[in-house]
Amino acid sequence: MSAAVMEQARDALRRYFGYDSFRSGQERLVSAILDGRDALGVMPTGAGKSICYQLPAVLLDGVSLVVSPLISLMKDQVDALTETGIPATYINSSLSAQETNERLRGMLEGRYKLVYIAPERLESERFVSIVRQVPIPLVAVDEAHCVSQWGHDFRPSYMGIARLLAHIEPRPVMAAFTATATDVVKQDIVDRLRLSRPERVTTGYARDNLALSVVRNADKRDYLERYIRERRGQAGIVYAATRREVESVHSHLRSLGIAAGMYHAGLSEEERDAAQDAFLRDDLQIIVATNAFGMGIDKSNVRFVVHYNMPKNLEAYYQEAGRAGRDGDPGECVLLFSPADTVTQKFFIERSEADEERKKNDYRLLNDMVEYANTSDCLQRAIVRYFGEADAEPCGRCGNCTDERELVDMTEEAQMIFSCVARVRQRFGVTMIAKILRGSNDAKIRQFGFDSLSVYGRMSGRPEKEIAQLIHALIADGYLRLTDSQYPVVQLAEPARGVIEGREQVFRRVEPAIVRRRGRGRS
Ligand code: ADP
Ligand code: ZN
Repeated sequence: MSAAVMEQARDALRRYFGYDSFRSGQERLVSAILDGRDALGVMPTGAGKSICYQLPAVLLDGVSLVVSPLISLMKDQVDALTETGIPATYINSSLSAQETNERLRGMLEGRYKLVYIAPERLESERFVSIVRQVPIPLVAVDEAHCVSQWGHDFRPSYMGIARLLAHIEPRPVMAAFTATATDVVKQDIVDRLRLSRPERVTTGYARDNLALSVVRNADKRDYLERYIRERRGQAGIVYAATRREVESVHSHLRSLGIAAGMYHAGLSEEERDAAQDAFLRDDLQIIVATNAFGMGIDKSNVRFVVHYNMPKNLEAYYQEAGRAGRDGDPGECVLLFSPADTVTQKFFIERSEADEERKKNDYRLLNDMVEYANTSDCLQRAIVRYFGEADAEPCGRCGNCTDERELVDMTEEAQMIFSCVARVRQRFGVTMIAKILRGSNDAKIRQFGFDSLSVYGRMSGRPEKEIAQLIHALIADGYLRLTDSQYPVVQLAEPARGVIEGREQVFRRVEPAIVRRRGRGRS
């Protein structure tokens, strides 16, 4: 890359976007693209991905295409570009045939530097014939994880991108961007979009201004009420898993006199727009929503995101939680976790039309999510590790880093659990293990003869729920693992060996009530 071209790029950055310097990552991606190389940028929301393709598009000859599934955002982006003096447009299903034709003609006449399209457009013959007639230096693919079956938002139409590009001569530079991709998803993007030795940039997932926390087994309604009342005047999003839950949380908050709006796909477009606008304008403090809300919402002063239910996987969670604190001021992300949320998510997986392999993958992602909810590790670190950043330091801000509850030696309990898992030959789920240890008088237990195991009733002083919770904690800490299926089975993982053999100890931070019950159980 010549210094002169990069100087030109910096000049354009100042002139069109008003910024003095590139952020880390942006410079490498822009420079690669201008150099004619493919690129893969994995950067969290707000990191500044748009400039990575908008700026090269300004400098390159011809019209660059931006593929994005977010039709609702195209207009805003195009308006913003037009305002800065960059000729751009979008073509999608919201336009009339006449408008579409007009814009296609504009492409032929070289009126635009950037054209935003939804992936479906690539299947239109007319569009393809036009694409073949104009110089296309760059195709930028936004939300590129949609091309991967292993990501959280697979869209079959994304598969058409590589097919179409094979027909364009000369081949444009391909640049793919996403906010969330594990290593498997990254590789899938490279393969399926046929990126050629791309410049890869993955930048910090850690968000220094966010404090993550997980609240387990709370009375969610009470918790939420108190939480919101303590944050009077602060904007917050409350995510719930289903429309029905959104409606019930919403009407509950309303009945308490809290100014909350509601957003889910079952409402009319007018209702949704009204709620969204009121929230953006700060007329509503709170919006209660399903995951339909938020894609591309640019509200920088959201101070907290509460997940009333656990989402289906960590990608989705972090994307939604990450909508807090976009302005850089402190933000809080609270996950209200209850085991029932796992049941809901399993129901969604079972009900979906995905094939078996895909379902298995979804169960695996769900297990990872449940692990997050149960881990005692730094939550920020758990997330960045999930996204492939291995060597993060504890954040010092999250619920686990700041947990001041008593650190208790749970080695004995862990040994009993491991031994129970072994005795049932690693063939049963969390509930059955908990029931056996609790000494439950369950027909199934008698049927299998588990009531004659030596571990039967060894933890009889504890509620079954508490034992189950401890099992989940041991899963989250890597001593046990779950199989990827609808009814996962608990298995021993390597680190359990040291504990079983008495070489290693297990410590957990636990509720004072549990500490007391342990004391009683001993005597
Ligand atoms: P993403 O697409 O990654 O979510 P955006 O491209 O929308 O992020 O950028 C997020 C914010 O950061 C925008 O307000 C943008 O103007 C700002 N931004 C991007 N690049 C820079 C830069 N080099 N210097 C300062 N601000 C920047
Ligand atoms: Zn932490």
